Amino acid sequence: MPFAHKGSHVVNFFSALARTGNGAYTVRLPAWGRLVQAPSVEACRGGGTGRRAGFKIRFPKGSVGSIPIPGTTTLFIMVMMNFCSGCGEPVSRKTPDDDHRERWVCDSCGKIHYQNPLIVVGCIPERDGKILLCKRAIEPRYGYWTVPAGFMELGESTAQGAARETLEEACAEVEIGHMFAAVDVIDAGQVHLFYTAKLLGDFEAGDESLEVALFAEDEIPWDDIAFHSGRYALRKYFEDKGQNNGVHLHELRRSRS
Ligand code: ZN
Repeated sequence: MPFAHKGSHVVNFFSALARTGNGAYTVRLPAWGRLVQAPSVEACRGGGTGRRAGFKIRFPKGSVGSIPIPGTTTLFIMVMMNFCSGCGEPVSRKTPDDDHRERWVCDSCGKIHYQNPLIVVGCIPERDGKILLCKRAIEPRYGYWTVPAGFMELGESTAQGAARETLEEACAEVEIGHMFAAVDVIDAGQVHLFYTAKLLGDFEAGDESLEVALFAEDEIPWDDIAFHSGRYALRKYFEDKGQNNGVHLHELRRSRS
C-alpha cells in the first residue's frame, strides 16, 4: 500500500535494506513498522556511534513507500559506514573483484570493509524449577521480559559471555551448563546462542533491568517476552525438561512473514 513521505527519519542501526528490481532500496523503519522506498544507498548518511547508533535516510520530497512482494527482492543487511577506518577517507558501495556482493570499499586506499553477523549469547538461569527473567530497562523492547543475553565481547568464550550478561543484567552468578539453542536472526544480522545455567546465590536488577524475578513454567509472561529468539529458547528449554537433547536450531526471518 503506497504512502507519501517527506523529509528524513532516523533508522535503527540494524534496519533491513532490500534492493528492488529497479535498483532502488526499500528500508524498514522500525518506528513505523513498515517499509519505504529510498532512491539509493547514497541517500543514507551515518550518525551516532556504537551498537545503538542510528543513521539518517533522506528521502526526496514526495517519496512513495512500498511493501516489496516476497520473492522479488534480495534482502541483505548493511551496517552504514561513511569513512574508512584505515585512512579516514570516504567509502562507497562496490563489488570488489572476485567477490559476489557489494561491500564498503575505501575510495582512497581501497580497503574492503567486510561486515558479518554479530553473536548474542544468553542463558536460562534455573533454580528449583524456576527461571530468572529480566524486565528490560533499555530499548529495544523496554519493559518487556527477557532471558539474560547480550552481545558477545572480544576476548571471551560464548559461555563466559552468557555468564557475564547474567551478572550485568541480574547481578546473578550462574554455573553455565550446555548450549541447547541456536537462532539465526537473519534480518538483524545476528546469531543468538543460549545455554542452560544453574542460578547461584542472590540476584537483583542490574543497570539494564527494571526488575528481575523467578518464574515457574506456568508463570512465564509469554506475551511480554521481548524477543522471538528468547521465547523460542524458553519453549525448547521446557520441552527438554532438564535433559541434554542437543542444540535446537531455528531460523527467524521477519521479512518473509
Ligand atoms: Zn582507506
